[in-house]
Amino acid sequence: MEILLGSPRGFCAGVVRAIDIVEIALRKYGAPVYVRHEIVHNQVVVEDLKKRGAIFVEELSEVPDSSLVIFSAHGVSPSVQKEADMRNLSVIDATCPLVTKVHSESKRFSEKGYTILLVGHKNHPEIVGTYGEAPEQTIVIENKKDAYDVQVPDPTKVVILTQTTLSVSDTQEIADILVKKFPSVLLRNDICYATSNRQETARELAQNCDIVLVIGAKNSSNCNRLKDVIESLGVPSQLLMDPKELDLSKINNFKKVGIISGASTPESLVSSVVEAIGYDRIITREIIQEDISFSLPRELRESKP
Ligand code: SF4
Repeated sequence: MEILLGSPRGFCAGVVRAIDIVEIALRKYGAPVYVRHEIVHNQVVVEDLKKRGAIFVEELSEVPDSSLVIFSAHGVSPSVQKEADMRNLSVIDATCPLVTKVHSESKRFSEKGYTILLVGHKNHPEIVGTYGEAPEQTIVIENKKDAYDVQVPDPTKVVILTQTTLSVSDTQEIADILVKKFPSVLLRNDICYATSNRQETARELAQNCDIVLVIGAKNSSNCNRLKDVIESLGVPSQLLMDPKELDLSKINNFKKVGIISGASTPESLVSSVVEAIGYDRIITREIIQEDISFSLPRELRESKP
């Protein structure tokens, strides 16, 4: 059996930055450090940080007064920041700069009186946060039906923003419907570099393998989209976190097995799956080189070892 290991895979610059922020905050300020929502969508990362003194909460009401709280990479709505200010909490914002960019776009266009068609998953924390920038002027579009049905007060003042971790092809289909419906709509492509690069890699693996495994968490949007891309090409796929989830007798029937991981998946999980499968030959298929990093928040910069 041959394993084709996709590259780029695993941690993106936003995830590296978010994890660094929690680790440095723990070193600099000591435990406990509160983190609102899973810092990134991966339970192995979360459990590791818990052991070092991070306490994960879903709401600020769970954070004691005057404590330090870190906002996750997915971003928060301005109402959460306001609540933190009122509660006198010290905040370190680990929102990915590429998510912050979408928040800024939302703010800018809403101030100019635009209706924002926000393409994404209603309950995903990133969409909840971006929606909160201008709730009266934002309509979430989850699928093609929503795109066909949507009505806006002024069709000449409409902008499309998107979640950063969507399927590139599905989003294009939704955007095409909206552009046809509102010809003067402004279209921002907010799908991030890491999401599109990993989807491109997944596509390449699907075209060259009998099955492609996606390593990552079931609640990770970008891992789920990788699986969608692979299956849309008629190739079987499985999203898994742990080699125990593998049916090895089934996997051993395939001659070429592709492996990729999502932007929040540690490389150790990929290695454990590769090891569990065993192989005759392993080849890395690199589609694009990534060389992106984001700077830390000012208050933590000098503390990085
Ligand atoms: S997936 Fe994209 S938007 Fe999300 S943290 Fe990574 S770089 Fe940022």
